[in-house]
Amino acid sequence: MISMKIVIQDEKDYQKFLRRLFFYKSIFYSFVSFQLEGDSKYSLSVFQTALNFKSRRKRIEYLYDQACSMIDSKNKNLNLCGFVNGRCYVQRKKKQKECNGCCRLCIYQTNHGCPTQNLACKLFHCGEVKQRYSVCSFEDFPYLKLLSLKNQYVLKNDYFSLREDVLKDLYAYTLTFSCLRIFFRIIKNFLLKRGKVLFFLFPML
Ligand code: SF4
Ligand code: SF4
Repeated sequence: MISMKIVIQDEKDYQKFLRRLFFYKSIFYSFVSFQLEGDSKYSLSVFQTALNFKSRRKRIEYLYDQACSMIDSKNKNLNLCGFVNGRCYVQRKKKQKECNGCCRLCIYQTNHGCPTQNLACKLFHCGEVKQRYSVCSFEDFPYLKLLSLKNQYVLKNDYFSLREDVLKDLYAYTLTFSCLRIFFRIIKNFLLKRGKVLFFLFPML
């Protein structure tokens, strides 16, 4: 391995570094071990670790888990959606009978909350939440720029899915294939949810 040191002291260095990311993650740097130095506000340790993963899958998985754990630690002990007796801000405001907020539409939701790590869901906040909290957005995780544009799009839209399924969507090389996988899961989710409602209404069916 050839060691390559990059020093990022100010915004200009940082922007230059971002512009070169496409090359740093390419095959031409397969035998380069990056050493990034500079201001910690640029998340350089995450960039460095990700760039030093030479396996595409490992890099994607690492970036995904990093963003999830950073959101979890920022939101720790916060009741962002204002749940009271299982109803969120919106459900209480509209006096709805349903519980569990947006997750009521998902087949994976359990009585103990979400059983997985879904980045799109973690980044989704309705107006009721946004007007009360300064919430995380995709732009707060600059290291996600290491992902292709196709994967950035998938990450932002892959709701109601298990972490493992999202990762498979990210591993796929084409947007069409990822979107087809997402589309079929949405249909499956809808049918299974509808099945549960029908079973609840007509248990003899
Ligand atoms: S994002 Fe909004 S609608 Fe969804 S669970 Fe939270 S408060 Fe409810
Ligand atoms: S995957 Fe998303 S919608 Fe489903 S339970 Fe988890 S957070 Fe809720």
